[in-house]
Amino acid sequence: MAEKFDAIVIGTGQAGPSLATRMAREGMKTAIIERKLFGGTCVNVGCIPTKTLVASARAAHMARRGEEFGVTVGGPIRVDMKRVKERKDGVVRQSNQGVTNWLKGTENLTVYEGHGRFESPRSVRVNDTLLEADKIILNVGGRAFVPDMPGLGDVEYLTNSSIMDVDFLPEHLVIVGGSYIGLEFAQMYRRFGSRVTVVERGDRLIARDDDDVSDTVREIMEAEGVEIRLNADCIGFEKRGDGIAVSASCAPGVEDIAGSHVLFAVGRKPNTDDLGLDKAGIATDERGFIPVDDQLRTDVDGIYAIGDVNGKGAFTHTAYNDYEILAANMFDNDPRRVSDRITAYGLFIDPPLGRVGLTEREVRASGRKALVGKMMMARVGRARERSETQGFMKILVDAESKHILGAAILGIGGDEIVQSLLDIMYAGVPYTVIQRAVHIHPTVAELIPTLLGDLKPLE
Ligand SMILES: Cc1cc2nc3c(=O)[nH]c(=O)nc-3n(C[C@H](O)[C@H](O)[C@H](O)COP(=O)(O)OP(=O)(O)OC[C@H]3O[C@@H](n4cnc5c(N)ncnc54)[C@H](O)[C@@H]3O)c2cc1C
Repeated sequence: MAEKFDAIVIGTGQAGPSLATRMAREGMKTAIIERKLFGGTCVNVGCIPTKTLVASARAAHMARRGEEFGVTVGGPIRVDMKRVKERKDGVVRQSNQGVTNWLKGTENLTVYEGHGRFESPRSVRVNDTLLEADKIILNVGGRAFVPDMPGLGDVEYLTNSSIMDVDFLPEHLVIVGGSYIGLEFAQMYRRFGSRVTVVERGDRLIARDDDDVSDTVREIMEAEGVEIRLNADCIGFEKRGDGIAVSASCAPGVEDIAGSHVLFAVGRKPNTDDLGLDKAGIATDERGFIPVDDQLRTDVDGIYAIGDVNGKGAFTHTAYNDYEILAANMFDNDPRRVSDRITAYGLFIDPPLGRVGLTEREVRASGRKALVGKMMMARVGRARERSETQGFMKILVDAESKHILGAAILGIGGDEIVQSLLDIMYAGVPYTVIQRAVHIHPTVAELIPTLLGDLKPLE
C-alpha cells in the first residue's frame, strides 16, 4: 500500500525545505526525502564550509601582514589545520542541524531518510516505502564532475566533498580547474601554507568573465604565490613516489607538476542518473539536467525541478529563487518567472568579485550603444586605508535608457557593494538615481557616483 501525500519533495538543498514547509503550512500533506545530508551541498560541502575556511585563511594572511599595520605578532604564523577544520565543522553542524530540526519539527510534513526514485509519474520509492502524490518536486542538486582523464584511476584525488575531511596541510595541492570553486580553494590553501598549482585547460581563469577581470584575478592569485598553468591541453596523472605527477602540456620537454594531493574543481554534474526518471517519463538534456519552463514545470504534468538540477542556475540564491517562483505561482497568484532573474554571483577570493548583469563582452556582442565607467581600487580611500588596493570597479550602462546593464566589482567589499547596483537594476530606474543619493564616507560605495560621473562610450 502506498502512503498518499499531496506533494513529495526529493532533496533538501536550497529550495526543497522552504517549499516543503510552505506547502505543509498551506495545508498540503507533504513528504520530503533526503538520502544524505540535510541542507545539501551549500550547507555541508559548498558555500558555508568554504566561506568558513576562507575566513580562517584570511586570518592567517592578515596575521602575516601584521607588521605592515604596525602590529607585531610573536613568532612565525602557524595554521593548526585540525582547529581550522573543527571551526568549519562547528559552523556547518549548526546549519545542518537547523535544517534537520526545522523539517522534522514541521507539522504536516513527513521526513524520509533514504534515496528517492520514481516508480511512476505519481509515485516515488524510498527504502521500502512507496509514496504517491499528484505533485512531485525535484531538488536533487548535483555533485562534483570528475572527467575521465588519463591515469586518474591509478591515483587518489579530492573533490569539494572529500576535502572537507582534510585536517592536515597538503604539501603541494594541485587543483584541476581555474574557475570559482578551484580559485577559492587555491587561495585558501596557499594562505594555510601549502604550495598550490592551478591547472586550467582554457587560456584564462574564470573564462565566463571579462578579460580584465580574469587577468586581475590571476594577478591577485600569483601575488600570493599560487602557481597557474593555463592552456593545459594534456592533463594526466601518475603515481610517483608518495605523490602524484600531474602533466599539463602535450608539448615535449614540459615538466610534470609534482603534487602531493589533487583536487578536482572542473564543474558539477546533476544528480539525475539514479532517479528513475524514465519511469516518470522525464528526459534529461545531454548534460543530465532536467529541462523546465519559465515557471519550473517539467514536461510531465505535476512534476517540477528546482535548484541546480534544472540547469538554469548554479547558485544557492538561484535555487532559493526557484522556490520563491514556484511558491508564488502555487499560492500567491503571482506569476513570477525565472526569466525575470538578473545574473548575479560572487567569487569569494580575497578581495572578492561581485558580478551582476551582463559582462562587457556580452554588451559588445549585443550591439547596443553603451557607456562604461571603470575605477581602480587604488583610487578608493577605504581601500587605501586598509592597504587592500587590488582590483577595480566597472559599470556598463545603456546609452539611451541609462539603465545599468552590468557591473563587476573586484576589490575590497565587492561582493556586498555590487548588490546596491543589483537593486537599482531590479527597480528598473536609471543610474542617475544613484548619483542623487548621499553615501556614507569613507566607504567603497561612496565612489560609485564618481565613477558614474565619468562614463565613456564603449568603443
Ligand atoms: C565548493 C562549493 C562552493 C560553493 N559556493 C557557493 C557560494 O558561495 N554561493 C552560492 O550561491 N553557491 C555556491 N555553491 C553552489 C551551491 O552550493 C549550489 O548552487 C546549491 O547548493 C544548489 O542547491 P540545490 O538546492 O540545487 O541542491 P543541493 O544543495 O545540491 O542539494 C540536493 C540534495 O538532494 C539530495 N538528493 C539528491 N538525489 C537524491 C535522491 N534521489 N533522493 C534523496 N535525496 C537526494 C542530496 O543528498 C542533497 O542533499 C558552491 C558549491 C560548491 C560545490
